Amino acid sequence: MPAMPSLFISHGGPNVVTDESPARTYLMGLSHLLPKPKAIVIVSAHFETGGVAVVTDPAPGMIYDFGGFAPELYEMVYPAPGSPELAERVIGMLDGAGFAPYPLEKRGYDHGAWTPLKLAFPDADIPVVQVSIDPNRDAAWHYALGRALAPLREEGILLIGSGHITHNLRALFPVMRHGNEPDPELTEKVNAFTTWFAERFAEGDREAILDWKNRAPFPAENHPTDEHLMPIFFAYGAGGDSPRVERAHSSMQYGFFAWDSYLFH
Ligand code: ZN
Repeated sequence: MPAMPSLFISHGGPNVVTDESPARTYLMGLSHLLPKPKAIVIVSAHFETGGVAVVTDPAPGMIYDFGGFAPELYEMVYPAPGSPELAERVIGMLDGAGFAPYPLEKRGYDHGAWTPLKLAFPDADIPVVQVSIDPNRDAAWHYALGRALAPLREEGILLIGSGHITHNLRALFPVMRHGNEPDPELTEKVNAFTTWFAERFAEGDREAILDWKNRAPFPAENHPTDEHLMPIFFAYGAGGDSPRVERAHSSMQYGFFAWDSYLFH
């Protein structure tokens, strides 16, 4: 069996499910880029804990962790089962790698998990295990988290980091909700940032990537807080030692909201 790549996706707002966009089209076609996963382990930027938690819930419910969107989005469901067995294995692997993971018996799907999964795997027939990020830990810590789970790819399990390559909501909401003009300087700063990542990945420069906060251009403008970038480091680590990196998607909304997605083979 060919190993499953690991995946980083930018998940957008919950309206990615309903509103036409190049990113939505990409997510809807994602399953054609991969063998069908036996199971999915997903790390979402919206699942924040101190340390790392693993969801053992056999039937996760829904979390509508967003405000001000269309009513229909608060009624959508994603009924994919959990997998207590796989969750226990994930806990064992993380434990073996020196993390101190803990189980969460009950937790639904946040929108960083369910909206892209609903587009990519609408049948909801693939078991999903959710793993948290720790917003107080850095890129190297989340990279190590991914590395610890990389062997699961050999079994046809898809490891996903769901966050955003750029995530300046302070700039986004005035433009998205009130039609304000986007700041052209911000467009340049976002382009510089996303290009920097693409180039470092192409070079396999792990040291630079994990030191992004000091080396990437305009880190604070692209990520006023770090949590939405952490899933990319998880996915990178999950790709194994020196993965071939494929920038599988890049698009921009409003001139500065970038949707890059990467596959790590
Ligand atoms: Zn988000």
